[in-house]
Amino acid sequence: MSKPLRILVAGDSDGCLEVLFNRVRSVVKKSGMFEKLLCVGSFFGDGNESVKTYWKQLKDGEKEGRRGVFTLTNGLQIAYLSGVCRNSTDSKTDDGDRKISCHYSASDVDYLLSLATGKDYNGVDIFLSSEWPRNIWHYTTQPTGVDIETLGSDTVASIARALKPRYHFSALAKIFYERAPYRNHKILRESQTHVSRFLGLANVSNSDKKQKYLYAFNITPLNKMDRESLIVQPANTTECPLKSVQSDNRSQGATGSHGEEPAQQFFFNPKDVERGQKRPFENRGRGSHPKHHKPPGPHAPCWFCLGSPQVEKHLVVSVGDSCYMALPKGGLVPEHILILPIGHFPSTLELPEDVAAETETFKKCLRQYFHSKKKSCVIFERNFRSPHLQLQVVPVSGAVSDDIREEFKESAVNVGITFVELERDEPLSHIVAPKTPYFMIEFDSGPHLVHPIKGYFPLQFGRQVLASPNLLNVPGRIDWKSCQASKESETEMATSFRRMFQPYDFTREL
Ligand SMILES: [Zn+2]
Repeated sequence: MSKPLRILVAGDSDGCLEVLFNRVRSVVKKSGMFEKLLCVGSFFGDGNESVKTYWKQLKDGEKEGRRGVFTLTNGLQIAYLSGVCRNSTDSKTDDGDRKISCHYSASDVDYLLSLATGKDYNGVDIFLSSEWPRNIWHYTTQPTGVDIETLGSDTVASIARALKPRYHFSALAKIFYERAPYRNHKILRESQTHVSRFLGLANVSNSDKKQKYLYAFNITPLNKMDRESLIVQPANTTECPLKSVQSDNRSQGATGSHGEEPAQQFFFNPKDVERGQKRPFENRGRGSHPKHHKPPGPHAPCWFCLGSPQVEKHLVVSVGDSCYMALPKGGLVPEHILILPIGHFPSTLELPEDVAAETETFKKCLRQYFHSKKKSCVIFERNFRSPHLQLQVVPVSGAVSDDIREEFKESAVNVGITFVELERDEPLSHIVAPKTPYFMIEFDSGPHLVHPIKGYFPLQFGRQVLASPNLLNVPGRIDWKSCQASKESETEMATSFRRMFQPYDFTREL
């Protein structure tokens, strides 16, 4: 591997070139030379002629371009897109100190997207765009001090998703924002690739020290790195926040043409599953207005974050965009299933809309599957002493929803729990306040049962009721720890479930 390069990136200069260059000089004096200073965002500001003259004296007439990709002699690849979309709210804003007159065109966008369609395309090292990619804060901390309803561009988001830059810098928002890295592959569905880091840089003229406008970092060019170092996934890596119809189509096509390992290689045995017929699913879970909750990073290694090394991959049976299904260890019955978010979210109440929608799609598929086997489906969640959301789905034969609900209500009385009924179309937030523990059960029909937990709650309550003689009659299996199977038989159960469930599995069409 070659030596890392030192790069400096600056936010909107807005014509304050002397301020910027003085600052850069002092940084260089303190910490030595950099390979490049890259500037992103508004460079000339309102187009003041004296600034342009000053700039002419500094540079020797390089041709200006709105987009492109250039490679430094050492192989570092930098893609860029100058200006804003013609319809952008940014260009219309007339706040007295910024009017963007530079616009990119559809052909500029097509040019950049075309870079990512080559057979061997692997990403670029750096991508500079004036505008932020829309929704870049999804799955992580939201930027503050800026209106996120109007922040960012869908076009830039599509380009960033296609280009897979290792570092992406934007400006114009007048704030500093450093996002947790996000992954560029679908976990367990595509082969692992490098993560992307996004940074929004503030403007040079701002006087708030927290709003950094200069960012220094070291980078070894992508094509000089071994694969193992390139694909390292830091612990705080999130799912890819960038979704767009355009890039969805494109990236799927690209994956197909890359000839990479098929997704199945990771945990499916392709011999076991043949591609099912297309099934219509109206609710495919791509919410158009996702709420931007931050998933709290796990404090300790998490057994359920799909990206974590602790996850037991042999138990995974299906993986969607933001959720997955797995067998639990020591399930009540062989087809006891968990629906879990891929990222670290503690409860249903705290799921972003698109993740919540995908849990519903999984539930729907599971219900269809279990109904085909003449079984009822009981789904329960214990948001109490459980850091990562697990929706426990348990099939019960020979009982209807109303009877199962009564069984739960009666057992509750015995242990001093009171349930509140929640109508199926009523939001859980009507009963449970944010960040408070609860236990909830869903049935195939009729209202859910919710118990907001105050103090004590018997951890095995859900399993206990289901294991009782009136329902599953497996009293020996109340505690999962006492009924764990060997890894071989777990693998067998997972394989068998996958095969049976496959015609109902919507992720087979993703
Ligand atoms: Zn987790």
